[in-house]
Amino acid sequence: MNRRQFLAAGSALTATAALAQPTSPLPFLINMQSDPLLPKANGKRVVVCGGGWGGISAAKHLKKLDPTLDVVVLERNPVFFSCPMSNKWLVDVVDTNFLTFSYLKVAQKYGYHFIQTEVTAFERDKKRVITAQGWIDYDYLIVGAGIRYNYEAWFGNDRKAAEYTRAHFPAAYIPNAEHFQLKQSIQNFTGGDLVMTLPPPPHRCPPSPYERACLIAGLIKERKIKGKVIILDPKDSPRPITGGFQEAFENLYKDQIVYVPKAVIKEVDPFNKKIKTAAGDFTFDHSILMAPHQAGDMAWKAGLIGKNAEGKPTGWAGVDPFFLNMKDDPDVYVIGDAVGVVSPNFNFYPKAGHVANAHAKIVAKYIVDRSQGRQPKYALPDNLCFMMVNTQPREDVAVRFQYHVNDKGIIIQDQDDDNLRRDELVTEDFAWAGRMYEDMFG
Ligand SMILES: Cc1cc2nc3c(=O)[nH]c(=O)nc-3n(C[C@H](O)[C@H](O)[C@H](O)COP(=O)(O)OP(=O)(O)OC[C@H]3O[C@@H](n4cnc5c(N)ncnc54)[C@H](O)[C@@H]3O)c2cc1C
Repeated sequence: MNRRQFLAAGSALTATAALAQPTSPLPFLINMQSDPLLPKANGKRVVVCGGGWGGISAAKHLKKLDPTLDVVVLERNPVFFSCPMSNKWLVDVVDTNFLTFSYLKVAQKYGYHFIQTEVTAFERDKKRVITAQGWIDYDYLIVGAGIRYNYEAWFGNDRKAAEYTRAHFPAAYIPNAEHFQLKQSIQNFTGGDLVMTLPPPPHRCPPSPYERACLIAGLIKERKIKGKVIILDPKDSPRPITGGFQEAFENLYKDQIVYVPKAVIKEVDPFNKKIKTAAGDFTFDHSILMAPHQAGDMAWKAGLIGKNAEGKPTGWAGVDPFFLNMKDDPDVYVIGDAVGVVSPNFNFYPKAGHVANAHAKIVAKYIVDRSQGRQPKYALPDNLCFMMVNTQPREDVAVRFQYHVNDKGIIIQDQDDDNLRRDELVTEDFAWAGRMYEDMFG
C-alpha cells in the first residue's frame, strides 16, 4: 500500500467509524440544550411556557377546541401546587391533597405533552424556546410566567441577603418549597412579633395577605399564644374588601393584629431582624418578608417586559390589552399575572388565578381562530375572589370584578366588595375552587 492508498483507506475507516459511533457519547434520552426536545410536529405547534393556573388551563382548552394542534407544556415543577386556598392550608383548613394535582394525568387525558424542564432562553427570531433538556420550535407561544420577587428593590446586588430572606422569611407567594417552610414556622410559632411586609401594588392576589394575617391571628388566638401579627402595608388601607378586613381586624383580632398603613419600606435587614418604613421602624421575632413583585423570569428572558416613558422596564409584559399578544410579535401571547397595564382606568387586571384561567381560555380561542384562518374577536376576563377571615366559625368575605369597554375604547373595571363576613361565602369559596380545579384538571 502506497502512501495515497494508505490515506484513502484511513479516511474510509474513519468515515465508517463515524457512522457506527453515536454523535454524542451520552445515552439517547439524556438531552443537551443543543438537542431537539421533541420530533417536529405534524400540524401547528403551540408551546406553553409555565404550567401554572394560566398555562395548564391554556393547554387543556387548546386541545378541547382543536385536537389537531400539537400542544407542549414546559414546566419546572413536578407537581401542580395551588397558591389559591394555600392560606387555608397553612392553618390546616385544607390538606396538601386539596392543593396538588398530577400534571401527567391531565396531559394524557387531553393529549398534550407535559415536559418537566426549566425554560432557560428564547430565540424569538427563530420561534424557538431553549430549555435545560433541549430546544423546541413553535408556531404560537404562550408565556404564563407568573411572578418573581424583586429582591433587588431591597438589596440591590446583594445576593446573600436575598437568599437569606427567601430561606428564613419566605413570602410563599411562589409554589412550593417556601409554602412548606412557612407552614412549619407558623405551626411552630410560640410567641412574639410576627411582622408581614406587604408588597406595593401591583402584586399577586391583592387581598390574600390580609386573609393570611387573619388566619394566622386566628391560630394565635385559638392557641392562646402571646403573639401578634404586625401588618406593614404600603397602602393607606386594606384593598380590596376594605371594610370586611378592617372589621375583622378590629372585632375578631383586636389583640392579635396590628395594622400599620403607609408603611412603605425603606430598608430591610433580615440578618438583624429590623425593618425601616415610612411609618416607623420595626424589629421582629419572625417575619413574612414579601418583596415587591414583577413578572416571572421567563417574561424577562423572552424580552417581553414593557418600557415606561423614560425607557425603563415596567417589570410586566407589554402586551396588547385586548389580544394579550406582543404588538411586534403577534404569535407570542402572555397570560395571567405577568400581564402588564391594560387600561388607564385601573392599570392591571387583578393578579389572580381566576383571571389567569380566563386569559388562558380567551387566548386559546384566539389561537385556534387564527390557526383555522378566522379573525379573532376580543373577549375580556372577569374575576371572583373569596377570602377566609375566620375559622371559628368559618367565615369569608369576597370581591367580584367585571370588565367592559367604554365608548372611547378603554377597558373599564367594575368592583363589587362583599364585606359582610358569613358562612355562605365559605360554601361559595369551596364551590369556586372545585369549579376551577375541574376546569384545569377534570
Ligand atoms: C396566598 C395566595 C392566595 C391566593 N388566592 C387566590 C384566590 O383565592 N383566587 C385567585 O384567583 N387567585 C389567588 N391567588 C393568585 C394566583 O395564585 C395567581 O394569580 C395565579 O397562580 C397566576 O397564574 P399564572 O399562570 O400567571 O402564574 P403561576 O400559577 O405562578 O404559573 C407560573 C408557572 O411557571 C412556572 N415557571 C416559572 N419560571 C419557569 C421556568 N423558567 N421554566 C419552567 N417553568 C417555569 C412556575 O413553576 C409556575 O408553575 C393567590 C396567590 C397566593 C400566593
